[in-house]
Amino acid sequence: MENELKPMDSEQLRENAHKMVDFIADYYKSIENFPVLSQVHPGYLRELLPDSAPNHPESLQDVLDDVRQKILPGVTHWQSPDYFAYFPSNSSTAGFLGEMLSAGINIVGFSWVTSPAATELEVIVLDWLAKLLKLPDHFLSSGQGGGVIQGTASEAVLVVLLAARDRVLRRVGKDFLGKLLVYASDQAHAALQKACQIAGIHPGNFRLLKTDSSTNYALDPDLVCQAVSDDLAAGLIPFFLCATVGTTSSTAVDPLSSLGKIAKDNDMWFHIDAAYAGSACICPEYRHYINGVEGADSFNMNAHKWFLTNFDCSALWVKDRSALIQSLSTNPEYLKNKASQANAVVDYKDWQIPLGRRFRSLKLWMVMRLYGLENLQSYIRNHIKLAEQFEELVAADPRFEVIVPRTFSLVCFRLLPTVHDQDNGHKLNSSLLEAVNSSGKIFISHTISIKKGWDIPIWKICQVLSGKFVLRFAVGAPLTEERHVSSAWEVLQKHATTLLGGS
Ligand SMILES: *Cc1c(COP(=O)(O)O)cnc(C)c1O
Repeated sequence: MENELKPMDSEQLRENAHKMVDFIADYYKSIENFPVLSQVHPGYLRELLPDSAPNHPESLQDVLDDVRQKILPGVTHWQSPDYFAYFPSNSSTAGFLGEMLSAGINIVGFSWVTSPAATELEVIVLDWLAKLLKLPDHFLSSGQGGGVIQGTASEAVLVVLLAARDRVLRRVGKDFLGKLLVYASDQAHAALQKACQIAGIHPGNFRLLKTDSSTNYALDPDLVCQAVSDDLAAGLIPFFLCATVGTTSSTAVDPLSSLGKIAKDNDMWFHIDAAYAGSACICPEYRHYINGVEGADSFNMNAHKWFLTNFDCSALWVKDRSALIQSLSTNPEYLKNKASQANAVVDYKDWQIPLGRRFRSLKLWMVMRLYGLENLQSYIRNHIKLAEQFEELVAADPRFEVIVPRTFSLVCFRLLPTVHDQDNGHKLNSSLLEAVNSSGKIFISHTISIKKGWDIPIWKICQVLSGKFVLRFAVGAPLTEERHVSSAWEVLQKHATTLLGGS
């Protein structure tokens, strides 16, 4: 057939890609019309699609019709201006163009030689981003360290945990794996727990130290000191300390300087997870949240969260790249080449879990070039201002309370329990969450605040009927404006009124 789609033909690509761009641009134009949280039931798609792939080619038009009718109803619209759940996962025109170019060139850049530009651009843009964040020089490629793009913060913490594990095992001997200890606050992301599972850290050797409202859920360095000295006295080997800047539940900021000192005094690897909040630190007025980063062995920030870079793009910097490389490098015959053997180049396959890797630096490069620092800063500032406004609205309604003081663009709040409330407002707030999310008008998420004396990590207690059931309102979608925030508040108020039974 004449018009049949060939595997690759530049004119067909031009024609069809134009249609696809139109489709996507129209999607953004009408994005506010969709329910933010998808309202489909589990298994909905199997009822709509055939059991097997077609024998004969179908037309792009037919596929796009299916996308419109069958796929989009099952999409939760993360880019909607009414999306306030979890943390944002930004897209942008620049990020999209970079993604498009990366898909278009479609290289696999595991070694320098497989596409020198992919490696070299990644080195350069991570230096650029490190400078925007005013990271210490040892994280730059000119020293012993450097940056690498990982898929996610989860992979970032895993690779540095492996590097740290192997570094300490080289010192103490590999029979001591069972004695190695990891420390973090009970607010640390579950990605760290998963990394420990993969790295073979004994489950009992993963210390999650308690936090509570007295420090706004930040890790208390005295607790770390105490735990480390108790563990040393018991003949165990502390080797990894993870701090978070902007925890997932409530954007708590751990005290980096004192934690870094503890890590240094005890020869531990010090990792900083700033997956969400790292982006804010490009603004001078928020940079102090990462004061103390000088003491870290590694630092991670998700450009795909709040830095206008389409998913996935997680920036990781390490102080000592050789530690990573010693853990993760392989050198099979079929990948040998002159540049690598002369040690003249970076081979990013040795800085990550997989071999293959995409040309993701194009996205970050486009974002930094097409927006520039000034626009990126005002983007962040605007979201924080909108969150401030939301916080004021909540504070002004006596039926609600703000739970912890806001730090970045996340507001934690809840509807106050009534006098007859048996469960401290748990059911009330979970009903409010359910009601607003199933209205389709906005999408928010929740967490549980930890009570003093609790001994369970945050991700295990989501169904526990004590503490406070906290609603999270995270501003950060690229299209969100003041009017979206004020109508989100109206939606919340309206459903609160209904739940409270009246007026
Ligand atoms: C989002 C988040 C993560 C996990 O991010 P992924 O990139 O999805 O792995 C880890 N830590 C913090 C603090 C986060 O906010």
